[in-house]
Amino acid sequence: MAIINAPRGTRDILPSESWKWAYIINMASQTMKDFGFSEVHLPIFEHTELFSRGVGETTDIVEKEMYTFNDRGGRSITLRPEATAGVVRATLENNLCVQGASAKLWSWGPMFRHERPQKGRYRQFYQIDAECLGIAGAGADVEIISLTIELFRRLGLKNLEVVINSVGCEKCRPVYRQKLIEYFEGHKDELCETCLTRLDRNPLRILDCKNESCGHVADNAPDIYDSLCDECREHFAEVRKGLERLGFSYRLNKRLVRGLDYYTKTAYEILSGDLGSQNAVAGGGRYDNLASSIGGPKVPGVGFACGVDRVMIVMEEQGCSFGKMPAVDVYVAALGDDSRGAVQVLTYELRKNNIAAECDTSGKSFKAQMKAVGSCKFACIIGTDEIANHSVSVKNLQDGLQETIAYDDVTEYIKSRV
Ligand code: ATP
Ligand code: MG
Repeated sequence: MAIINAPRGTRDILPSESWKWAYIINMASQTMKDFGFSEVHLPIFEHTELFSRGVGETTDIVEKEMYTFNDRGGRSITLRPEATAGVVRATLENNLCVQGASAKLWSWGPMFRHERPQKGRYRQFYQIDAECLGIAGAGADVEIISLTIELFRRLGLKNLEVVINSVGCEKCRPVYRQKLIEYFEGHKDELCETCLTRLDRNPLRILDCKNESCGHVADNAPDIYDSLCDECREHFAEVRKGLERLGFSYRLNKRLVRGLDYYTKTAYEILSGDLGSQNAVAGGGRYDNLASSIGGPKVPGVGFACGVDRVMIVMEEQGCSFGKMPAVDVYVAALGDDSRGAVQVLTYELRKNNIAAECDTSGKSFKAQMKAVGSCKFACIIGTDEIANHSVSVKNLQDGLQETIAYDDVTEYIKSRV
């Protein structure tokens, strides 16, 4: 019988890589703390309506990328394709944002989208996500964008570009939408099939179509900046001023609309020059209508999601540091079968003192044990002599020197030297 493999688009993150993931997540956790964000753990599956109403019926995610199934109770369930809708749901459900209060939450974990797998694009992928709820002013947008930039700065990513846009609000977007429909109607023969279907339902999406011909048409489309209402125009100007105050450079891209319907006003992406076509390492923006679209009160929000898989690829390619690979410092070896029990006792004693220690439990010969010391700094050897003298032979594996240490002093001896 053939071995059962992991489903297409999923990956195993193995020991050779997992410590690097831990480094990224620890860095995110520290950065979030420094920016005043608290961590939340939310369900990986939600009611399907949360995404169809929150993310939007006409988005790629809802139209073709969701893992949706009926559970045994006949309810339609979806594996979360993104985090924001869940964070907003949890905020409303748990009253985290009542009476003008605000909530700053972050989370990380797997997301699921049925896409064509390729480098930097998977069906189960990981995001670090931060959301600031309850603040309508541009200061919150600037804080979120600066948080994204600071996380990447700490991780040592180079060659990044911040791209921003405003996508308007429920007051000014309908006007812009109409202008776009009129414009694209006149260029129907130059649009791809997907964009033709977008024309009536979601013409803004044509703006970020990757098809070359659609791109040319989109380049000359009416400018969103001419359609923004005063409020959106002012908000955008303040976001830009705030970013400049913090010393960040950015590029304006009027074609940046992003794939999710819930965005209002600010939309942004962080692009890497080292990722090929899957070049976005993070994306985010403001979503003042999301809370009400899932049945709640109007709670403004702004947030971002960072693709951990892609950050990992860029860090590897740019030779960024992941800190030190965790290693065992001490190998405890049994010289003869009679000391195997004592070896396990000493190993546990070292571990209790936060010293990373390893011993053999598979019955290896002494010679084989000494071959297994790998990159350890010390080998502690216990044989019948050591047991009789209540001592341990400690070999410094860097200089080869061996000393006999009283059993009760071994932990202190090692502790002061690793
Ligand atoms: P893309 O245009 O690359 O499909 P997106 O607009 O669908 O991205 P978002 O929904 O904004 O992506 O998600 C935020 C981040 O999550 C992206 O910038 C990217 O780094 C990452 N991401 C999105 N989809 C995938 C995927 N299938 N595999 C790996 N990472 C992903
Ligand atoms: Mg996508």
